[in-house]
Amino acid sequence: VTFKELGIVDPLCEACEQLKWTKPSQIQRESIPLALQGKDIIGLAETGSGKTGAFALPILQNLLEHPQRLFALILTPTRELAFQISEQFEALGARIGVKCAVVVGGIDMMSQALTLAKKPHIIVATPGRLVDHLENTKGFHLKSLKYLVMDEADRILNMDFEVEVDKILRVIPQERRTYMFSATMTKKVQKLQRASLKDPVKVEV
Ligand code: AMP
Repeated sequence: VTFKELGIVDPLCEACEQLKWTKPSQIQRESIPLALQGKDIIGLAETGSGKTGAFALPILQNLLEHPQRLFALILTPTRELAFQISEQFEALGARIGVKCAVVVGGIDMMSQALTLAKKPHIIVATPGRLVDHLENTKGFHLKSLKYLVMDEADRILNMDFEVEVDKILRVIPQERRTYMFSATMTKKVQKLQRASLKDPVKVEV
């Protein structure tokens, strides 16, 4: 199958071509049609499977249809992953003018606050620093968010970000789509799944 056959629109198919993504990976083949139908998804997949594309393409497609700032939040356990995810969003979304911000520790709060004030479409964040901004950056909120992605949920929870994730879940809209990706299905991941996803479809690769 092709990305187009999965329901991806031409400008995004062209972005995949430019990245030399000649055909969808297994997690992309299984997740993308479900995501385009509006389902919440729990994906059991590891880094290297193409899981970033599996959530980024449907989010970008929905963003094209309903342009809006502060559209999607991607939570990830580490700075490195945050930058990798942001790079993929920017590569896929370059021609449709997508603005992406990385919100992680080790970078000056003030300059990050200025980036957030410009209202990017996509925020890729580690939970600790995001909560720091939610609590301390005047005017910053996520009340219009349409998508939440929790990437590498098992690692997020293993790094003791549970309290931060709970705080974030409390200040984002209930009415949203949620994707959770994890390499393992631990008790903690199941608990987070129950607290944050609605009738999710499970996709395993
Ligand atoms: P991820 O598992 O999302 O971290 O992706 C791992 C790597 O695979 C990244 O460098 C992506 O650019 C690449 N990738 C993702 N989807 C595809 C695809 N359909 N074809 C070829 N490479 C891909």
